[in-house]
Amino acid sequence: MLVTVRRLATGLLCATGTTMAGVAPSPAQSNEVNVYTYREAGLIKPALDAFTKATGIKVNTLFAADGLAERMRSEGANSPADLLIAVDIGRLQQAIDLGVTQAAASDVLQKAIPAQFRDPQGQWYALTLRSRIAYVAKDRVADEALTYEGLADPKWKGKICIRSGQHAYNTSLIAGFIAHHGEAKTEEWLKGFKANLARKPSGGDREGARDILAGACDLAIGNSYYVGLMRFGKNEDQKKWGDAIRTINPTFAGGGTHVNISGVVMAKHAPNRANAVKLLEFMVSDTAQHIFSDLNYEYPVVAEAPVPDAVKSFGALRPDTVSLNDVAKHRKAASTLVDKVGFDN
Ligand code: FE
Repeated sequence: MLVTVRRLATGLLCATGTTMAGVAPSPAQSNEVNVYTYREAGLIKPALDAFTKATGIKVNTLFAADGLAERMRSEGANSPADLLIAVDIGRLQQAIDLGVTQAAASDVLQKAIPAQFRDPQGQWYALTLRSRIAYVAKDRVADEALTYEGLADPKWKGKICIRSGQHAYNTSLIAGFIAHHGEAKTEEWLKGFKANLARKPSGGDREGARDILAGACDLAIGNSYYVGLMRFGKNEDQKKWGDAIRTINPTFAGGGTHVNISGVVMAKHAPNRANAVKLLEFMVSDTAQHIFSDLNYEYPVVAEAPVPDAVKSFGALRPDTVSLNDVAKHRKAASTLVDKVGFDN
């Protein structure tokens, strides 16, 4: 087959040794594997390059911020996609719900990835973890440990900043709360939490740290990796935001810290399935886990994988053990409760 460089419909350049579409898939098609990704190429490419170096298997990537699962559905049996990488369990679940995935059983993956971070049937696997943590004012907060339940404690009245309750990071956290306590208790908690807000939910997670520096709040809820991006990134303002805070990994009472994931699913019609399994297994190797976690300050999903120092500095992570499949089930109810209590008003 001719070596071609195709410009795919999304406008991204994709070097490939076979045509990417319109060819009936055959299992032994090529020494390649095709990855569709919602995750920015820069955050996965170094790991993919390491895979190519180790195996000689070429990796073609197609990045898009939206619509990749829908694209796989419309491509049907001719889809060139072997794997789909996404951030957030919701995105993986959406692909599964659209029927564009298949199970990928692998002893290597099952052994490496803790049970709550993979689908029992092998429909999805987590690659990295991001915890939903508390940023607290270094100079105004003495607490060493926090619970999510405690965010409703009146001692925080007028002191908490957070982005929209409808953002996926927050509906996921609230869904986790429902998994622990049920909807009625979650509604009460959300009312108390809302009563403690310093301002209307807005901005992103980093703006919580910004507002702590400005003195507008003492505690903000944000994802762990933004701390690394603020402290060690190139933005001078954000360095100051990152330096104004301390991090605490809150836990559910009787549970662990809420985490979300980046993860991966196997495409239903994967034309290079065997290569895709090899790539999946490479992704849980120490090499790949370190690259992933180093690039975006995320925790490796493999418990034994080395944690970069910057990530260690956010504190030891003891992830909640409720399965992300269970958490995902409560997302819709979480979103409904956010509106019901007027969290964003
Ligand atoms: Fe983010």
